[in-house]
Formats: sequence, structure tokens, C-alpha cells
Amino acid sequence: MPFDAAAIRDDFPILERRVNGHPLTYLDNAATTHTPKQVYDVFEEFYADYNSNIHRGIHELSHEASVAYEQAHDRVAEFVGADGREEMVFTKNTTESINLVAYGVSQHLDADDEIVATEMDHHASLVTWQQIAKRTGATVRHIPVTTDGHLDMDAAAEIITDDTAVVCAPHVSNVLGTVNPVADLVDLAHDHDAYAVVDGAQSAPTRPVDVGAMDADFFAFSGHKLAGPTGIGGLYGKREILEDLDPFLFGGEMIRNVTLTDSTWNELPWKFEAGTPPIAEGIALGAAVDYLDDLGMEAVRDHEDDLAQYLLRELADREFVRTYGPDIGEERTGLVSFNVEGVHGHDLSSLLNDRGIAIRAGDHCTQPLHDRLDIPGSARASFYVYNTRADVDRLLEVVDTARDDLDDYLTSDRYHDLVS
Ligand code: PMP
Repeated sequence: MPFDAAAIRDDFPILERRVNGHPLTYLDNAATTHTPKQVYDVFEEFYADYNSNIHRGIHELSHEASVAYEQAHDRVAEFVGADGREEMVFTKNTTESINLVAYGVSQHLDADDEIVATEMDHHASLVTWQQIAKRTGATVRHIPVTTDGHLDMDAAAEIITDDTAVVCAPHVSNVLGTVNPVADLVDLAHDHDAYAVVDGAQSAPTRPVDVGAMDADFFAFSGHKLAGPTGIGGLYGKREILEDLDPFLFGGEMIRNVTLTDSTWNELPWKFEAGTPPIAEGIALGAAVDYLDDLGMEAVRDHEDDLAQYLLRELADREFVRTYGPDIGEERTGLVSFNVEGVHGHDLSSLLNDRGIAIRAGDHCTQPLHDRLDIPGSARASFYVYNTRADVDRLLEVVDTARDDLDDYLTSDRYHDLVS
């Protein structure tokens, strides 16, 4: 059956909104995707029917909440190919997942160690490893990005050595859309006994992920980018490594026994989930991966690819537009970053907003990558399951007239109201 984005839209009432008198065209999915009824209904069910703290109470509501929360771990674990709930820690988001790993492995790092990151890292990863390096004395090295938007794997093979303790890379770049050869990076890391950490913020939502096949030690992702709610994310970790890792936060359900002088930790994954967790959000994350599984992640990937390739082909015909990342026809996810000659990304974004079209402009939390591309920022259109080619056409209409419309728009009352 062909992917029916038009029917999928019925699951997302927010898409019926009008913005500035126009139907909403939402192309900011790499930042946050929308949430279908099937997912946010979980909140009503939870708070109307079985709201309670988990694990601690021997009463019916607590039992129901605990079971639902635990089962959500099972479903999310299966979604990324993990081997059971013990390997799936719920966190707040990708950022917290990476910080959890960084804190844990930092206990084993010293000044002789090297951490290998990449020039296309999101700040969530780049800055975290910078800080860990400052605390431990370790050095961070970066795999360069080639001019065509790929990781330089020859350089990676040189940079990753016996001094490397950690390799961390994004599975998919949130600016270039590049799908990195993470299994090869994981192999390189393991050849040198280093931990392999994958930032899956942009891959888990957009393509089938199998952490087992990838052999990553850790894989981090966010719920709000995969049709789930905010406030919940995931960290896959290999069981034996998580067993070994020091927890990051202390208190509550992560504890087994406490004396006045020492404590022992609960079993996985609860050892890493201190305090009362975001229970409804966790259960809703389970509903989100069910929703995506029903659509089929291969179909999601192909749908995104169709939209990205369509936009890339259209933009290639416009000599006043520059795009970044892999060429037309190459593998990428459903996002395209670009600049329109003479129009700052923020101005383009405002012009689009005036027609009800949401994109993102700026550095997308990747300042070093923009330095590498020698641009101050870019505009980014990113797709999800409910987008159609008609959305791309609406974007292109504004791109085509942006240079002519800009002066009028910047002196209009609408623009003044927006920025004042
Ligand atoms: N890594 C990548 C590749 C991302 O795209 C993002 C979100 N833009 C993050 C990390 C951080 O995600 P979050 O804000 O949900 O922690």
C-alpha cells in the first residue's frame, strides 16, 4: 500500500490550524515532530484512570502505572533493536542521554585518553565531550567533514587510535541530512577498545534502527522528534556496559539498599532512572513507537526520502539557492538546509511564517559545522510522516519570491508586530 500521508494527517489535529490566515505548513520536524492523537490520548487515560507513582505502592493504581511504564521500556527497546528493557534507560532527551554516558565513562578517563567526536556534532554532544575533557584532562579530536557533507572516514581511521577511549558520532546530521556509516565507526572504535556512542536524535525518528547490527555501545534519542511527547528520551546501552557504569543521578528508585555510609544500586534500567520519572511521558513514548511501527519505518524512510529528493531537485533548478549535504540521489534523511542569495535565513523564516509555513533558521546547534561550511547559518526544511509534496510546493513559492518580497515585508506592520 502506498504511504498515505494525507490520511495520516487526520491523526494530527494540530495540522488543521491556521497561522497568519493560512493553513499551517509544518516543516520544522528535525526540531520537534507533532504528536498524533493515539499518543497524546495516553495522557488523558493516565491522568483520568491510573495516575500514580510507580514501583513504590502496593495498590492497584501504582501497579497499573508500573506495568504500563515497564512495558513502554520493552516496546521502545524493541523499536531500536535492543535486547530487552534492561538495555533501555528512559531519560529526558538525547542531551541527557549523552550526558549520562559521558558522566559514566568519564570515571574511566584520564589525561592520556582521547575522545573522538566529529565536526558535524550537535552541541549536545560536542559541548558535553568538551566539558568532560576539561574535567578529566583528556583531549577531544574531531573527524572532519568533507566539502560534500560526509565524514572523512580516511581521517577517522587515522584519528581513532589506541589512545582513543570514546568515539561519539551522530548517526544522521541534523543539518546535512547525511547518514553516517556508524557501523564502520563502531568497528574502528572497538578495534581500539574504545566505547562507541551514537547520537540517534535524527535517525531513530526517520529510519529503521538496529543497535545490535550497528554494535554501538550506546545509542541516544529523543521522544519529541519521533511523534512522542517532550520530556522523555531514550538511551540504549549494552547490558554489560550499563552494569559497569556509574549512575549519573542519585535517589529514589535507582537505589537498592542504603545505610548511613553507603548504598547499592537497583537493577537495570532503574539504576539510571533516579527519582519519580516522567511516567505518562514514558508510556506515551511507548505509544509513539507503536504508532511508527504500524506505519513501518522503511515506509517512513522512503516517504521522507521522496520529499527531500523532490525539494533538492527543485532547488537545484534555482541558481540563487545553495543547498548543503549529500547530492541529489544520495542517501539522506528528510531534511534540506539551504540559503537563498541575499536573504538571511531568519528573514526567509519570517516571510514563510507570514504564509503559515514553519521552518528553522540559524546554526541549528552546530556552530562549528557552519564555520566549516563558511556560512553564518542556514534555513532548514525538515519533513515527517504527514508532509506532502504540496507542502514543498508552498515552500518553493515563497523561496521564489523571497528576494522581491523581502523589502515590503520588512517594513510591514505584520513584521513589526512579530519582532516587537
Ligand atoms: N543531537 C542531534 C543530532 C539533534 O538533532 C538534536 C536536536 N536538535 C539533539 C542532539 C538534541 O536533542 P534534544 O534537544 O531533544 O536533547
